[in-house]
Amino acid sequence: MKRLFAVSVTAALALFALPALAEPVKVVATFTILGDMVRQIGGDEVAVTTLVGPDGDAHVYEPTPADARALGAANLVVVNGLGMEGWIDRLVKASGYKGPVTVTSSGVKPIAGEEEHGDHGHEDHDHGHGAFDPHAWQSVANAKIYADNILKGLVAAAPDKAATLRANHAAYEAKLDAVEAEIKAALKPIPRKDRKIVTSHDAFGYYGKTYGVTFLAPVGMSTEAEASAGDIARMIRQIKKEKIKAVFVENIADPRLLEQISRETGARIGGRVYSDALSAADGPAATYIDMMRHNLAQFTRALAPAS
Ligand SMILES: [Zn+2]
Repeated sequence: MKRLFAVSVTAALALFALPALAEPVKVVATFTILGDMVRQIGGDEVAVTTLVGPDGDAHVYEPTPADARALGAANLVVVNGLGMEGWIDRLVKASGYKGPVTVTSSGVKPIAGEEEHGDHGHEDHDHGHGAFDPHAWQSVANAKIYADNILKGLVAAAPDKAATLRANHAAYEAKLDAVEAEIKAALKPIPRKDRKIVTSHDAFGYYGKTYGVTFLAPVGMSTEAEASAGDIARMIRQIKKEKIKAVFVENIADPRLLEQISRETGARIGGRVYSDALSAADGPAATYIDMMRHNLAQFTRALAPAS
């Protein structure tokens, strides 16, 4: 009886002491998709600052002094890598941050960059300069690698929270498996030859490779360069030739180019898809998983054979 009492007092003390002891891990993530994954796995154990906000374009981001301050105060920095955040090294240096950096794409089998990605036949080399396509998160199998890397980074930053982090990670992984199964099941009835989709920039290479969809884009893998008149003319010819039914506007891109292509080809605007950034919290793609579901619904609605 006496022992039981002692245990419960200890437990009560521990509970009281918890908020003061358990400082959340301060994580800076470069863009919303990574920020969401850190939140899913970190839960209450993390305080996440995301540098490029909802609907923002991480390719061409210009860091602010506030970003440097956030990095300076961070315990862990989480980046995509594969050349996505061309500005991050300079920012880390400017901030004086000396802590760990988790590269979420580490271990992903990368798709080669522009030069070998022949879908839209750029002759000039204005478009993107990366050796690799950075948009690896567009395959859920890769998102699981991202989640593993984030778990490792968080556990190393806060070993005392490892049990909670591992449990959160396991729950998240199950959700990722479920959404991957949904994507495969939804695309299955659509013949492979009909799975052709036009988006603003070339952000869906991993999605296409994993799920058997051909994506075409007038702009390359980075949004840094604009499509030339030649790029647009080629795209229009290809859409007509291949009888592509719909083009999709991306949340991070100016819709006007796609609207022009839609007018000139008769392909309709199939909806707004989320490529490199999530929506605001009240939008249709507030989390990575919501984004994948939303995009899938847009794609399948446009591609499904009329019945
Ligand atoms: Zn992109």
